[in-house]
Amino acid sequence: MDQYDLVIVGGGPAGLSTALSLERLAQRRLLERTLVLERETYPRVKLCGGGVTRAADAYLARLGLHIDVPSIPIHAVRFQYAGRSFTVHSPNLLRVVRREEFDAVLADAAQQRGLQIKAGVAVTGVRRHNGAIKLETNQGTLRARAVVAADGANSTVRQKLGFNQPPHRLSRLIEILTPEDPATTPAFTDHLAVFDLNCVSQGIQGYVWDFPSLLNGQVYMNRGIFDSRVHAQIRGNLRQALDKALQARGCELGNYSLMGHPERWFDPSASFAAPRVLLVGDAAGVDPLFGEGISYALRYGGIAAQELTTAFVHDDFSFRGYRQHLLHSPLGRELILRTHLARLAYGPFRHRWALRLCWALGEGLVNCYLNWRVRQQRTLAPQRQ
Ligand SMILES: Cc1cc2nc3c(=O)[nH]c(=O)nc-3n(C[C@H](O)[C@H](O)[C@H](O)COP(=O)(O)OP(=O)(O)OC[C@H]3O[C@@H](n4cnc5c(N)ncnc54)[C@H](O)[C@@H]3O)c2cc1C
Repeated sequence: MDQYDLVIVGGGPAGLSTALSLERLAQRRLLERTLVLERETYPRVKLCGGGVTRAADAYLARLGLHIDVPSIPIHAVRFQYAGRSFTVHSPNLLRVVRREEFDAVLADAAQQRGLQIKAGVAVTGVRRHNGAIKLETNQGTLRARAVVAADGANSTVRQKLGFNQPPHRLSRLIEILTPEDPATTPAFTDHLAVFDLNCVSQGIQGYVWDFPSLLNGQVYMNRGIFDSRVHAQIRGNLRQALDKALQARGCELGNYSLMGHPERWFDPSASFAAPRVLLVGDAAGVDPLFGEGISYALRYGGIAAQELTTAFVHDDFSFRGYRQHLLHSPLGRELILRTHLARLAYGPFRHRWALRLCWALGEGLVNCYLNWRVRQQRTLAPQRQ
């Protein structure tokens, strides 16, 4: 049976960033004894709006990386709600990528730095065995002293190790791609992304997005609906709400193939670790306010790498401190804030004053937040020890 110090299950942004952050912390020996298991082969399909925010690129820059893939830069974001809208202008607020390309280049960069990735290997079973973790895969069994669960919102590691107790904290998302003429579509001419919260009145705890996007050199609008479901008692019909929003855009839902995938939202009261196992990225929980997950998945990698470094130095794999370190980190504090804001903004109707207040304060509030976030980004990456 193959043995590793560390096995990272899942080669998306969270898993790859955990390994790259170990390298940044000068943990080369541990990196050499680390294996990433990825179920798919790169470039693998990942349903996603592909909005890579400045925070994500800032974290990658701290790791010494720029993921250079075809993308559409966004310089303006419009927020719409209850017949009112405001637009925030700032250069390169985000860029819209295709995740299959982005993740493949990230995986390639990690391999060039010495990370071993076995693609096409799916973890099917996880159990504790003689002071280690035994991982069953479709290609045999492995043993690891520690495991990082970076296998996304439907994490197998979570399920197999009993983390999946209710509440399930899953947001629902549906996405479609609509072909567009770039010369006449403002999203392309103005580099504009739209967050339309009108669906809140239909019981959706989120928004409909319109992102200009590229697929194989052709332009499309990446459109979709995000329902955070931070309030279990509120249930809207996702399909109906998307249908209504698309009709307002002159599109017919029936003409497109619908693709759906969940996201796990961050709840500070949830479990994030067990002896020898850490959860990161979508397996742990990301932003329930906007469903932003790429930057948070990358940043989880930094916290997990610090925790792993300490565990291997002290030969203590209880990971008792992970939760506190996570909750008190800039990442944890930001996710806690976003969870509170999501609960306020998407609450039952009588509480929607929060959303209305945001609209009244509008642009100023969002600009304050963006400026604060830029300052935060300077402290994102783990420091060398
Ligand atoms: C429709 C949609 C739109 C979104 N739009 C945006 C957006 O515009 N901007 C943004 O920031 N975020 C967006 N998100 C969220 C973002 O996609 C996720 O938060 C992010 O991908 C999480 O990264 P991760 O590495 O934790 O998980 P993932 O990216 O899901 O990676 C998990 C990896 O684990 C692998 N895996 C799964 N199971 C196994 C197994 N058993 N064995 C081995 N490997 C396994 C998977 O193949 C996958 O490669 C969107 C999400 C959805 C669903």
